[in-house]
Amino acid sequence: MRVYNFSPGPSMLPLPVLERAAAEMTDANGSGQSVMEMSHRSADFKAIIEKTEALLRELMGIPANYRVLFLQGGASLQFSMMPLNLGAVEPGQVGKKAVYIDTGIWAKKAADEGAKYLEALVPASSKDRAYSYIPKAPAPDPGCAYYHITLNNTIVGTKWAALPETGAVPLAADISSCILSEALDVSRFGLLYAGAQKNLGPAGVTLVIIREDLIGRAPSRTPALLRYDIHANEGSLYNTPPCYGIYIIGLVLDWIKKTGGVGAMEKRNREKAGMLYSYLEESRLFRSPVDKGCRSLMNIPFVPVESDGARRKEIEARFVREAAAGGLINLAGHRLVGGMRASIYNAMPIEGVRELTGFMKRFEANYV
Ligand SMILES: *Cc1c(COP(=O)(O)O)cnc(C)c1O
Repeated sequence: MRVYNFSPGPSMLPLPVLERAAAEMTDANGSGQSVMEMSHRSADFKAIIEKTEALLRELMGIPANYRVLFLQGGASLQFSMMPLNLGAVEPGQVGKKAVYIDTGIWAKKAADEGAKYLEALVPASSKDRAYSYIPKAPAPDPGCAYYHITLNNTIVGTKWAALPETGAVPLAADISSCILSEALDVSRFGLLYAGAQKNLGPAGVTLVIIREDLIGRAPSRTPALLRYDIHANEGSLYNTPPCYGIYIIGLVLDWIKKTGGVGAMEKRNREKAGMLYSYLEESRLFRSPVDKGCRSLMNIPFVPVESDGARRKEIEARFVREAAAGGLINLAGHRLVGGMRASIYNAMPIEGVRELTGFMKRFEANYV
């Protein structure tokens, strides 16, 4: 029996994608081999990576003056590549500055990594209230190299409802946990990046979407494998890319297109999140710790209303254990924040959220 997996990542993939990958496991598209066995320089693989990029461009509406890169190292390596390529300078030159808005643990990690290569300004943070809201974002000094946000905060369950105005300063965003979940105007950004394992495919591929004029700014000492210009010039084939992961992303994009595109995903995602949030509004046992107006569609944390620490822990442990016994797995919150969290990415079916909501209601009826 397949379980409903509410993990923040790696997370569920659409069943039709897994079934197609299984059917093509030993003979992909009449090539007589698995995609895992293909040369990354072969015509068969070239067709796969080109199709994957074309589908992504179509589904996200990526303008022609942006490049799409399939890299490795996860979103975490982008925390380093972004400042190395856009904000580092040659020895002896005056250092650059960049803005980072502190909306959670990933946003903070990005800022800490950036501070190794430039002056990382953090003019706004929501840390004072456990990252339960998105702070007001001040306009940047026009000299800044970029302005970084985490569009959807996976751990705390917040998202930017509106993008900050950054003038001529390129807006850069970590979209690891919300890519393709709802409409996004790519032309508002200079740089977008996402680890694949949440909403795109298997771990091991990192997607970068970068405006052409931002490519080629890395200082000469930058390691070759960490340079956007090298990857862009080589069509993501400077070295062996994560071929099988790119192929699976292609299948996921095919599935999104067949399901109706990003608009249909967004509608489903709003319906799924709406079911959980409206239950949480009524519940006497659980509540959402996130301010209305900045609640994520993808990651939905919830905590017991109970204020006694020991009783809370007991409710949480029992909830996670009983849910798992019923095939609803990975509902524990992040190890640093506790509570519970349901991650309901594109591939989570509506029935999965319906089952979860039903389980929560029964659990509450037995408890209160
Ligand atoms: C999961 C996640 C990361 C870390 O991704 P890795 O691919 O493991 O490096 C960074 N940012 C956000 C928003 C995430 O959700």
